[in-house]
Amino acid sequence: MAKTVYLALGSNLGDRAANLGEAIRLLDGPELRVTRRSSIYETAPWGLAAQPWFLNMVLEAETSLLPKVLLGRTQRVEARLGRKRTVLNGPRTVDVDILLYGRFVIESEDLTIPHPRMCERRFVLEPLAEIAPDLRHPTAGRTIRELLADVAGQTVNRLKES
Ligand code: AMP
Repeated sequence: MAKTVYLALGSNLGDRAANLGEAIRLLDGPELRVTRRSSIYETAPWGLAAQPWFLNMVLEAETSLLPKVLLGRTQRVEARLGRKRTVLNGPRTVDVDILLYGRFVIESEDLTIPHPRMCERRFVLEPLAEIAPDLRHPTAGRTIRELLADVAGQTVNRLKES
């Protein structure tokens, strides 16, 4: 049974928009069919402030891949695009996070779903609210629109339709 998943993409190195486009091209396929994509947003860096601004967006996809296989797939795409894990929360060519996998709740050593920090990140909630405002977060019990109303103080500018 295919599941609906939401993935968050971010890039703050090199040609950021091209990196996002290339990541979508590598992710999309018969086992992970991208069905919707948000606009691209330019956002202030989170955590380590002395680094370039990010471009962020969210994808909706239908997948037959089990969660851990999906994680392997997203990590391969990050690796293909040359992400170097040198500094925690530091610059990255492309970062792909699994936000939601149907209504599954998973807590294992290498995978936590829903993504543990999504509810506090405006750069995730704003693009997600654009494509799925009425989606209810499986553990917070609130819709994405409601969660977004509670986060403030981070600069997020919608750039363009992707
Ligand atoms: P980050 O550096 O923020 O991209 O985190 C990558 C690490 O987070 C990887 O080692 C993953 O195993 C782990 N991880 C846990 N939950 C998730 C998730 N929902 N999506 C992506 N990575 C995850």
